[in-house]
Amino acid sequence: MRLDKSKEIFDKTKRYIPGGVNSPIRAFKNLSIIPPIISKGKGCHIFDVDGNEYIDFVLSWGAMILGHCDPDVVNRIKEVVEEQIAFGAPTEIEYEMAKLVCETAQIDMVRFVNSGTEATMTAVRLAKGYTGKKKIVKFAGCYHGHHDIFLKEAGSAVAELRLKGIDEDIVQNTIVVEYNNLDSVEKAFKENKDEIAAVIIEPVAGNMGTVASKKEFLQTLREICNFYGSVLIFDEVITGFRLSLKGARALYNVEPDLITLGKIIGGGLPCGAVGGKKEIMQCLAPQGNVFQAGTMSGNPIVMSVGYATIKKLKENPHFYSNLEMLAGKFEKELTQVFSNSNLTFCINRVGSMLTIFFGVEKVENFEMAKMSDLDLFRSFAEYMIKNHIYVPSSQFEAMFLSVAHSENDVEKFVEIAEEFCSSKRK
Ligand code: PLP
Repeated sequence: MRLDKSKEIFDKTKRYIPGGVNSPIRAFKNLSIIPPIISKGKGCHIFDVDGNEYIDFVLSWGAMILGHCDPDVVNRIKEVVEEQIAFGAPTEIEYEMAKLVCETAQIDMVRFVNSGTEATMTAVRLAKGYTGKKKIVKFAGCYHGHHDIFLKEAGSAVAELRLKGIDEDIVQNTIVVEYNNLDSVEKAFKENKDEIAAVIIEPVAGNMGTVASKKEFLQTLREICNFYGSVLIFDEVITGFRLSLKGARALYNVEPDLITLGKIIGGGLPCGAVGGKKEIMQCLAPQGNVFQAGTMSGNPIVMSVGYATIKKLKENPHFYSNLEMLAGKFEKELTQVFSNSNLTFCINRVGSMLTIFFGVEKVENFEMAKMSDLDLFRSFAEYMIKNHIYVPSSQFEAMFLSVAHSENDVEKFVEIAEEFCSSKRK
């Protein structure tokens, strides 16, 4: 695969943007290939400036559930942009989008922001304002964005970095506990009685690779938060509108107090949201005294694209069952390939998010994820990308399917994975 033009552009960009990227994971730091410079996307395919075509299993880190440049989304952008770009003033589409999100995700109220990070920051501030407490509990391997309070034992791109610049005074109010381990949660609460404003968790983690919460774990977490008067926040930035219209909550039947949304909610444009119970949400300014603001929040183009996207998910009764069927086939065929090659591996899948871990049989938390064969994963990712299957460059990320993927696309992935296994046997 030739990446000459990509290399030229990447090298030029590094002169002006640190590392050549606007988000660290994009730099392929742990691979020995440079990142292809992407020029076009259509359906589940992306194209680089060198003319290479890839089947995309990253999908803008889960955002593009309809695939790239879905015609309805593109038309909506074209329509809106003729008359509305930004006002920093109320627009009717904000009402329509808020109503659609509240009814679809079954929450009382919502506030739109510009990213997942803003959503989680706002959720935590709300929890602190509502409870009058100052500490939060988070789980090792979960990633909630790049604010200081979350950058303690975080997953995703943080997992492979040694961080500087974090304000230790702020971070000391963040207590990190183990995912799927109730003892560690109970211990944190016993040691910090009456001080914990919130527990924030990815109900299905995507940032240590895909790792599902155990049902009993989330249910008990709910009970613990009730008992101690802490706010339970489900960070559904990845899982919201991906695992169901109601996100991961529907799978577990556990109701948090607040949820955070991102990625799919903006249909590929910058968007995030915090939502949940009215009693807490109405603490937000200007109704209450918990401050949050944003010049671009609720931007009319973003709201219109989010609206068009969610409408599409909602109006197709087979949307999630079709994705589940395809993802089930994907998991089954991959399992067969890796089993036949006598590799030790485990595949974690929930709905249309999936991660392959090599060298381990089970992954239920960050420690277990870190024990997987990271070198083998690296060579796998590199092999796949070189063979036109675009996968995350890091073990601590999930792969995603969209409704634009077909059985053929999944079979192509499986075929290349099989070639990878043969190449390892040689
Ligand atoms: N929360 C989760 C679960 C995420 O996966 C991410 C980003 O990947 C964030 C929050 C932060 O979102 P953003 O990158 O839009 O700031």
